[in-house]
Amino acid sequence: MTPTYTPMMMQYLAIKEQAKDAFLLFRLGDFYEMFFEDAILASRELEITLTGREAGGPQRVPMCGVPYHSAENYIARLIEKGYKVAICEQVEDPSAAKGVVRREIVRVVTPGTVMESKSLADKANNFIVGAASVDGRIGFAACDLSTGELYVTSFAAAGGLEALLDEINVYHPAEIVGDEALLERLKPYQATWARPVVLTPREPMPQAGVEEQFGEQSLQGLSEERLRTIATLTGYLADTQKRSFGHVRTIRPYEPNQYMILDPFTRRNLELTETVRDRNKKGSLLWLLDRTMTSMGARLLRRWVDKPLLNVAAIEERLSAVAALHRDLIIRDDMRRELSEIYDLERLVGRVAFGSANGRDLNALKSSLRRVPALAGLCANSGDSTLQSLFADIDDCADLANTIETVVVDDPPVSVREGGLIRAGYDEYLDRLREASTDGKRWLAELERSEREATGIKSLKIGYNKVFGYYLEISKANLAGLPEGRYERKQTLANAERFVTPELKEKERLILEAEEKMVDLEYERFAELREHLSGHLHRLQKLAERIAALDAFQSLATVSAERRFVRPTVTDGYDLIVEDGRHPVVEALMDGIPFITNGTKLAKDSQSMLLITGPNMAGKSTYMRQVALLCVMAQIGCFVPAKLAVLPLVDRIFTRIGAADDLAGGQSTFMVEMKDIQIMTDKATERSLVIIDELGRGTSTNEGMAIAQAVIEYVHDKIGCKALVSTHFHELAHLEDSLPLLSNACMAVREDGDDVTFLRKLVPGAASSSYGIYCAQLAGLPETIIGRAYALLDEEDAPVVKRPLPLTTSIVDRVAEDQQPGYTDVQLSQNAVAASHVYEVEEASKPQSSEVI
Ligand code: ADP
Repeated sequence: MTPTYTPMMMQYLAIKEQAKDAFLLFRLGDFYEMFFEDAILASRELEITLTGREAGGPQRVPMCGVPYHSAENYIARLIEKGYKVAICEQVEDPSAAKGVVRREIVRVVTPGTVMESKSLADKANNFIVGAASVDGRIGFAACDLSTGELYVTSFAAAGGLEALLDEINVYHPAEIVGDEALLERLKPYQATWARPVVLTPREPMPQAGVEEQFGEQSLQGLSEERLRTIATLTGYLADTQKRSFGHVRTIRPYEPNQYMILDPFTRRNLELTETVRDRNKKGSLLWLLDRTMTSMGARLLRRWVDKPLLNVAAIEERLSAVAALHRDLIIRDDMRRELSEIYDLERLVGRVAFGSANGRDLNALKSSLRRVPALAGLCANSGDSTLQSLFADIDDCADLANTIETVVVDDPPVSVREGGLIRAGYDEYLDRLREASTDGKRWLAELERSEREATGIKSLKIGYNKVFGYYLEISKANLAGLPEGRYERKQTLANAERFVTPELKEKERLILEAEEKMVDLEYERFAELREHLSGHLHRLQKLAERIAALDAFQSLATVSAERRFVRPTVTDGYDLIVEDGRHPVVEALMDGIPFITNGTKLAKDSQSMLLITGPNMAGKSTYMRQVALLCVMAQIGCFVPAKLAVLPLVDRIFTRIGAADDLAGGQSTFMVEMKDIQIMTDKATERSLVIIDELGRGTSTNEGMAIAQAVIEYVHDKIGCKALVSTHFHELAHLEDSLPLLSNACMAVREDGDDVTFLRKLVPGAASSSYGIYCAQLAGLPETIIGRAYALLDEEDAPVVKRPLPLTTSIVDRVAEDQQPGYTDVQLSQNAVAASHVYEVEEASKPQSSEVI
């Protein structure tokens, strides 16, 4: 039995049918109301009062609402929690309506399509991803509706899902729309993504609609799965936004192999854009590199970090721009100053296209455009070809700035519906209306003056309210002095009377009419201007893109200069050579304590793999991450923290590091490790960089060691890529004898009586103790346990050296030599004193050469 609801509630229910997966915000007068389940959930999520409403049915209908003027905040909160919100407005004038006012959903706000700046991070894109497949091949598209960017690519059927997951992790979408079957396959991974992602199944829109959006030409040459993906995504955007989004016009196709591939774990492990610990930007590589002055620059830099290049020429182009700005402090400073005056052009353009830009937005656009000539001048003078060509034939959009200038006043109000935004002199009729209104007001002032004189009542005044319009007000105390019948009584207050006269009413009509016309006309003119600008979105976007690139360049140059990075030589070859490398982030966070530099040499014909042993806390994983980060930095076009760096293009970095990602999917640590290794064996090429920390832990010693050895041999024999492997099993040191391209290395440690000092210096050879018991001691375990552990170790007669042997002079020299003046003076003197106590390398595994490693 369906309850019989009131007509309004029937209307609600019909509209709710169109927005089943969203909160329906139903406009009723000055409120947006929610009913039924929506109301119950929203009251909980938004902490607002749940009430009820008689709606003709057997029971009151649960209801809660938010005021129309503050709705944006509430919507933002729901979006942030991963919900969708459908906004239903009254679409006819209530006074003209027969029966229930007509209502329609005017827009569905979703996490991936939100345009409101409250819900958007300035310095990160907000992507919505589309995914669709044709004959097993998977298409992928990522769109940021707030800026208009749209990227598209596709993957072969084999390994397509992994590639899709990799790509999802590049774009961090808030929402994914696509083929239902494909989304089902993504579901198991949802929990591993950095932010909540809404999955919405959807069919593609008809081809005609896609052509209308992008133009036939831009679709030419796109493969079927790419087309289907774009059609799916565009269809969803059209359905939810219900308005034009003319700023999404340019499709940027790319191939996944144009960029270094970094799987999700590697991104996290290397802390490229957020730290493992608290998913914070602070402490990440991006945090260090981001010295951008504009939000669009910050977003671009983030995309660069997410997608390191794989092409020497393209990298060199960036490096040369960075180098020019690195060299010239004056140009860099001037550029930073100019950039600091530029607003978020990309998102301003988005709002113009969307029809939501206000007067202040347009003025921000104008003043940003005014900076372009100065930026162009700086680029021209930079002496660098990348920078010069970036701004050479730049269209500075000065005409648009001038137009805005002639139309919009200097300090417009936030609202575009209340007048006060169009400059005097722009529209003759508007000026006349303004004059009428000012004349009217002058007339009122004159009336007030003359009536005071005529009646002798000094406190007589003219006022205005919305209900009665203009009136003459006289306080009770002065009423006696008013001649009977002079005015018409209108309203009685506690201590005053209000009057009108026919003349006053006539003037009021004129004034109000003029004002109403003025407000309408101002809006009309403003909308025209916005419309005009909409015709030039493409020009503005192109300009924004270049400014963003310039900002990203100066950001990299600024950090490189401040942190004493050097320009790397990026090659198409194999060999990786770093002298005195540093971990950029660890160094930056060390706060004055010197970072110990370490070199790296991985070469095709001598050593391509290092097997690193050494105790916990010695600096192994810092070192290995450092090598990976240098590669990433070079391939995004940044200078690197080293004295010298020759870095070959790395097509992929695999890392298996530490315990941070052990929780993924509830699998055992060992299982996770093995799966990562499986992917690595499957995907790594000779040009990859493999980093495995503590290989083989998590199972029994014998098995762990066996697997570790087998993996190392596989990487060495079959893949032949550059690899850094750390292990607890110093017993594996013998592999150096059987694997010609593998060398042992360890982190030097100094023992001094009961003290162990980590020298953080990578030296050739294998460590033979992991100092596990010493670490336990440091951690404060009871003496009894520590004593017993040492005793057991003695009993076992394990091949573990507990006490230090004198270090060979060559290694001590090496340690000392590698120190950079200014960095490690403190450490140097310590080394000198401690040289004879530095932990020794076992005779058997002594390196053949004392080459820098
Ligand atoms: P391991 O992987 O050997 O257990 P880590 O790489 O985690 O050791 O290093 C432990 C700590 O030592 C780091 O948190 C860092 O603060 C410090 N450290 C590592 N390498 C260096 C270095 N080269 N110079 C100075 N401090 C370092």
